[in-house]
This record gives sequence, structure tokens and C-alpha cells, in this order.
Amino acid sequence: MNILLVYPEMPDTFYAMKHMLRMSGKKAVYPPLGLMTVASLLPGDWPRKLVDLNVSPLSQKDLEWADFVFLSAMNVQENSVREIIELCRKSGVRIVAGGTLFTHEHSRFPGIDIFVLNEAEITLPLFLEDLARGELKPIYRSPDFAEITQSPIPSFDLVNIDDYLYSILQYSRGCPHMCDFCDVTTLYGRRPRIKSTSRIIEELNEIIDQGRVRLVLFADDNLIGNKRVLKEELLPALIAWRREKLPSFLFATQLTIDLADIHKLHRSGFYVAGGFIVGFDTDTPSIFQRQADFIQQSGIPLPIVNLLKAPPGTELYKRMEKEGRLKNQFAFSEALSNIKPLMEEKVLQEGFMELLDNIYLPKNSYKRLITFFSTYRYPRPFIKVPSKISFRDLTMVVRVLFLLGITDPHRQYFWKLLFWLVRHNYKYLDMGLFYGMMMYQMHQTSLHLQHANTNIDSLINTQ
Ligand code: SF4
Repeated sequence: MNILLVYPEMPDTFYAMKHMLRMSGKKAVYPPLGLMTVASLLPGDWPRKLVDLNVSPLSQKDLEWADFVFLSAMNVQENSVREIIELCRKSGVRIVAGGTLFTHEHSRFPGIDIFVLNEAEITLPLFLEDLARGELKPIYRSPDFAEITQSPIPSFDLVNIDDYLYSILQYSRGCPHMCDFCDVTTLYGRRPRIKSTSRIIEELNEIIDQGRVRLVLFADDNLIGNKRVLKEELLPALIAWRREKLPSFLFATQLTIDLADIHKLHRSGFYVAGGFIVGFDTDTPSIFQRQADFIQQSGIPLPIVNLLKAPPGTELYKRMEKEGRLKNQFAFSEALSNIKPLMEEKVLQEGFMELLDNIYLPKNSYKRLITFFSTYRYPRPFIKVPSKISFRDLTMVVRVLFLLGITDPHRQYFWKLLFWLVRHNYKYLDMGLFYGMMMYQMHQTSLHLQHANTNIDSLINTQ
């Protein structure tokens, strides 16, 4: 049975980092971990290929080769999903779909043959058993949560890690919090399930074997869901492993900070990428300036702001439905929402656009980065990352200097940042380049959102 795993294209959002990718010479941010895990759950003797549309197009030849296309998507990828369905229909290949988009909204995708929903560790074996018997059902789902420590090691060999900005693994699923706008607890439960520490070390060894990466993301819903095991087992093991292997990468993750001194985190060697939301029922029009002031003063180098939305499957979606406040079908865009806010809609939309402008204008990003670098301290020497410079790194530096230092109309802020670092701490110059790229990335995506939404009145009326 030939299986073609297809990952849809990401649109231009803050998380997709398309503008930064262009400069870095990479094609996508991270490889599709879900599909790589699904690939490992398939019978070992089935030929499989993975096509990530963010890296390469889907060819007719691949579609003709496949007995099944396995598709996994988040709601942000819906447009690309519909194009893939169309291509598969024309080629007559059957589609098996899973992932968060379909788990919540499979009824909106009649072009898909079979849905394997919820966690694949439970539902994919059910599909495989029925396939062997020749009795396939249209939907496989389960209310249970998988024991993820038995989840197989993802098939890292199906991707070329050189195409990606960073690599990825997952330590836990689920989150003990209950934010009503988030579907994590519906999808993965409130009891965080974790993999064993030895499994994580195994996965890290696999990642090292795949080639050179700069960053490895722990793609957890909330890494600190189980703080005790994290502190007593995983973190000490990671430190010991890093000391021994001296890998060329740093770690990144996602977690909730209830209340924190951001400067203290920066002084301890963390870079904070903070997610912010406006449009809560309790927000008043002063929120936009207050949020911008907080972000600027805290020196968060990478803030990401969003309008409150109610994704299907969340408690907020149910509440909005009950209150008659759902405006239209959910479609992910940072600048759109599917709910009627309590604040006047025009005020919310205009305030959000001003907030984007306020924090992503290169002049303001530059000021924030100076605040960041004034407090940041590099992590302690025993986790020093070996600094091997490759030809590829050099070409990237040339590209960045050309684009940000010569052609960009806001180049003065890029140069000011680099000169400030030369004067105050030249050791952080490589980080200056990185954050220069980020400054450009966030500004470009913010312009894209603002251009896409220039007519606020029509935007409100058509939603
Ligand atoms: S803390 Fe994060 S992952 Fe957990 S429910 Fe809230 S938004 Fe979702």
C-alpha cells in the first residue's frame, strides 16, 4: 500500500514567518511532526512519501503513485486543504484526513473519503484493522486519550531537515489550564501526558543524526503542565545530554507564564516570544495602548498579537453560539474574528491595527530590542553552543545584509541595532542579525494584514 502524506501550505501569518524564511534560505519553519508520527504508526513494509507543500509542490506523479493520500491540517491551512482535495479528486486517489481542523469540523469537507480523528495512536490502528478486513468506515474517532509514551519515534527520515528553520519534537500533550478560547483541553485533555525522559533523549539523538539545525522546538501545548517531572527528570537529563553531545542547537518551547518578571527571564538567557490577545469582553478601548506600552517596556523581542477568536471545539465557541454572537464561520486570520465583541467593532478593528503598527514599526521594534539586549545575558558557559560557520551561513548573512541593510526602506534601524551591539556587546551580533530578520518579518506580515484589511467598514460588514 503506497501512502503519500501531504502537509498543506501555510498562509502569511506571524507564525509562518514567510519573509524571514526567504532571507534564511530555508523553505519552511518546522517539519510536520503529526504526519511524521502517523508515518511511524503505519505497517513497516508500506512505502511512504511525505510532501510538505511549504517545501515542494504536489506532483501528478506522486498522486498517481499513491493508494491513499494522508492529509493533516490546522484551521489556518484550510485554503490549501481545499486545493489538495480538488487535486486528489481529479486523480481519483482516496484521502484519509486527520488533525485539528478535521477533528472539529469534518462535516465541512465532503470531498474527503475517510476521517481518522482525535489522536492517531488510538484511531489509526482501528482504520488499519478495517482496511485489512476490507470494511472501511467513513469516520474513526475516540473519546480516549493516548498513552503518548508509547507513541512511536516520528519518521524524521521522511524530510530533509535542511529545508527547515528548526526541528521539532513533543514531550507532552494536554494542559491543566482552561482558557476558554483554546481547544487544547478538548483535544488533549487537562491531565498532561508525558513521554519518558529516555524517549526524549532518543528523539534528540535522532534529530542530531538528521543534520545540522539551529533550534529544536518542544511542540508541547504547555511544557510546564507537569512541573515536578519536568524539574526532577527532564531538565536535568537535557542538561547532562547537552554537556555530553554539545549539539549545535538551542531549545524553544511553548508554556504559560502566569506572572513573571520578563527582565529576569532575559537576564537568565531566555528569549521570550510572547502571545497577546485583544478583544475580550472585559477589554475597553484603552487596552491597545496599555498592551503596546507593556510590550515595549518589557522588551519582549518577539511579541505576537491576535484578535480574540472562537475556534470550533472551544468553550468560547459554545458560549458565543449560545449568546448569538457568532458572526460567521471560523477562518483563521490574525486580523479577523468570528465573534461579535462587546466593544464597538470598528473601535476594536482600528485599535488592533494601531496596535500592530505600534509594536511592529521598525522604529519601535528597534527600541524594544535595545531594551531586550540591555537586560539579556547569554546562558551559562556549560551550555555554550559550538559556533561552526558554514558556507550556507555566510550566504545567509550576505542575503540579510543586502536585504535589510541596503534595500529595505527602514534599514537605518537595522544598522542602528548592529552598531549599538558593536558598541555595547559585540558577542550578541549574530543575535542582532536574527532579530533584525524578525523585525523585518513581523513588519512585513503586519503590513500584509493591514493591506488585506484596509477597508474596516466593509471588513466588519462582510464578516
Ligand atoms: S494555557 Fe495555553 S495551552 Fe493551556 S488552555 Fe490556556 S491557551 Fe491553551
